[in-house]
Amino acid sequence: MVGAGPIGLVLAIDLARCGVSVQLIERNATCRQLPKMERCNARTMEMFRRMGLVERARAASTPPTTVAALSAEMAAILKLPDVRERIVLLGMDPRGSTPAGLAELDEGELKRWQPIVAASGFKVE
Ligand SMILES: Cc1cc2nc3c(=O)[nH]c(=O)nc-3n(C[C@H](O)[C@H](O)[C@H](O)COP(=O)(O)OP(=O)(O)OC[C@H]3O[C@@H](n4cnc5c(N)ncnc54)[C@H](O)[C@@H]3O)c2cc1C
Repeated sequence: MVGAGPIGLVLAIDLARCGVSVQLIERNATCRQLPKMERCNARTMEMFRRMGLVERARAASTPPTTVAALSAEMAAILKLPDVRERIVLLGMDPRGSTPAGLAELDEGELKRWQPIVAASGFKVE
């Protein structure tokens, strides 16, 4: 495989875990100074969970106190009338939440979709 970006790295790990021998070729000898992934979205965390990496990713992430402070600031900013108005104009519905609220949403989605995926017989290979 060519390219050890996030996609190449994850695919190489996944294939290797399935017993497929992989050679990953990358033109850059070192990592870039700017990280390519500071924030993981819900789908990325889903993949990390499937790969058994979620706890390690969480352990290496921003401390909960910093996340809580950023979250509170963001929720306050989303309540500012001019910010709200601009976001609504873009067709979105701004709502502040908390890290616990997001975790609850994540868990709820898993509970909701797991039986449907199980019933479908779909398996990740
Ligand atoms: C500064 C920055 C911050 C970002 N922050 C986030 C974030 O917080 N969260 C998020 O989800 N996304 C973030 N992104 C987007 C995310 O980085 C990209 O979506 C992701 O890198 C795409 O992964 P990729 O593996 O497809 O491609 P790339 O990351 O572009 O990787 C491709 C790799 O292939 C190598 N390559 C290409 N051609 C060859 C060749 N011919 N021979 C050998 N090697 C080759 C390249 O050197 C490169 O390492 C960020 C992007 C940038 C630039």
